[in-house]
Amino acid sequence: MRILLHACCGPCLLEPYDALAESAHVAVCYANPNIQPREEYERRRDTLLAYARTRSIEVTEVPYDPERWVQAVRGLEDDRMRRCRACYRLRLAMVAEEAAHGGYDAVATTLSVSPYQDQDGIRSAGEEACAEAGVAFFFTGFRNRFPEATRRSRELGMYRQNYCGCAFSAVDAAQERATRKAARQR
Ligand code: SF4
Repeated sequence: MRILLHACCGPCLLEPYDALAESAHVAVCYANPNIQPREEYERRRDTLLAYARTRSIEVTEVPYDPERWVQAVRGLEDDRMRRCRACYRLRLAMVAEEAAHGGYDAVATTLSVSPYQDQDGIRSAGEEACAEAGVAFFFTGFRNRFPEATRRSRELGMYRQNYCGCAFSAVDAAQERATRKAARQR
């Protein structure tokens, strides 16, 4: 079985890749037009590529096109759940298209390793996107592997971002950090 694994960043790649590679041939697709700004997109990509080189993992990059993401979430900016689902849908559609062209059997994603992501939303976005492209979506909930992914990425000295990806998530994350800091100082 050949799986094209959508990867959002290096730390999230570690555990899903190893789990899937036990029983399938796995290649990776970096398709993340949601990441802002460009420097951050490149930093996450380069972290992933550096790790992939150490394991001889094949990686395809879908060219960065943030405008496509802006169009995909237009009108949903203030509705986090719907915005995130549109974001998953776009990224997984990009990977599904690559998978169909490349003759892969299925698409999977590292997004489900994160406890901060919407598992049902990932599953439905992946199923819809893959059905359209004519490939299978192989959903696996990797959340139980998050602690190990965190440990390994720290041990490897990988860059670990502190927000999900889009500018909205950067603002939310900064506010949450400020709130936690204020609570500690009380
Ligand atoms: S918070 Fe993350 S998943 Fe949601 S829209 Fe932003 S980048 Fe996409």
